[in-house]
Amino acid sequence: MFEIFKIGFITVSFLDIIDISIVGIIIYKLYTVLRGTIASQIFIGLMLVFLLSFFSQILNLRAVNWLLKFITEIWIIAFIILFQPEIRRILMLLARSPIFRFGQKGETQEVASIIAEAAFELSQFQHGALMVVVKSKGIRGISETGDLLNAILSKDLLRSIFFPRTPLHDGAVIIKGNIIEAARCTLPLTATTTQNGESLGMRHRAGLGISEQADVICVIVSEETGSISIAENGILTRGLAKEVLRQKLMYISPNKSKVKSKSFFGK
Ligand code: ATP
Ligand code: MG
Repeated sequence: MFEIFKIGFITVSFLDIIDISIVGIIIYKLYTVLRGTIASQIFIGLMLVFLLSFFSQILNLRAVNWLLKFITEIWIIAFIILFQPEIRRILMLLARSPIFRFGQKGETQEVASIIAEAAFELSQFQHGALMVVVKSKGIRGISETGDLLNAILSKDLLRSIFFPRTPLHDGAVIIKGNIIEAARCTLPLTATTTQNGESLGMRHRAGLGISEQADVICVIVSEETGSISIAENGILTRGLAKEVLRQKLMYISPNKSKVKSKSFFGK
C-alpha cells in the first residue's frame, strides 16, 4: 500500500516510514529519559540484542535466534525488576505530557476549591491573607521579592502560611496552577486610597495594585473584619461568599488565558 520505493527486494511503503518513525521516537524518548542513569547502559545493551535478533530473523539464523530470544526474555524481566523506579518516572512523565492533559479542567476546579476553602477558613479565624493567583504570564519579578517555595498547593499549607506570628505570614503568596511559587512577597500599592468612602488598608491596596499591573486575580482576607475580597483588572470586589469566590476562580485556566498581560515584571 502507498509503495514509495524499493531497496533490492524490500519494498518501502508510506506506512513503513510512519511505523519506523514512531519506533524511532519511542526509543529516543526512552533513551533521553534514562540518559545519565545506570539503566541507560542496560537499555543500550537491550537495544543491541533487539537489533541482532532482527537481523538474525531476516537471515534466518535459527540457533542464534533461539539464543537471542532466550536472552531477551530474561533481560526484559530483569530490566523491569531492576529499574522499577526509572520505569515509574517514565510513566509519570508520560502522564504529565500535554497529549494526556485531559485532567486540566479538573485541576483548575480543584485549585479553585482549595483557594476558596482556605480563604473561607482564614476568614473564620480572622487571619489576614493575600493570595495572588496568576492567570496567564508568571510574575517572577514579584515572586523574587519574597521567599521562593515551589510547593504543591494545599489548603493546610495556605492556612499555615497565613497563621499570625509565623515567619511567612506577612505579605503575599503567589499561586500559579497548583503550585505556591513564593510567600512573603511585596506587591506594588495602588494609588487608590479609598473605595465607597471607606479607606483602604495596605493589604487591600497591595492586592488592588498588583491586579492593575498584571493578569492575576488577587484574593484578600481581611484581618480586621474577616471579609473576603478579590481584585481583578484594577477592580476590588468586597464581601464575597465562598461559593462566589470559587466560581470566580474556576474561570482561570493556568497558562492558557489569551488576555494580554500588562505585567512589568518579566516572565
Ligand atoms: P486588614 O483588613 O487585614 O487589616 P488592611 O487592608 O487594613 O487589611 P493593613 O491592616 O494595613 O491592611 O495590613 C497590613 C498587612 O498587609 C501587612 O502586615 C502585610 O502583611 C500586608 N501588606 C502591606 N503592604 C503590603 C505590600 N506592599 N505587599 C504585600 N503585602 C502587604
Ligand atoms: Mg488594617
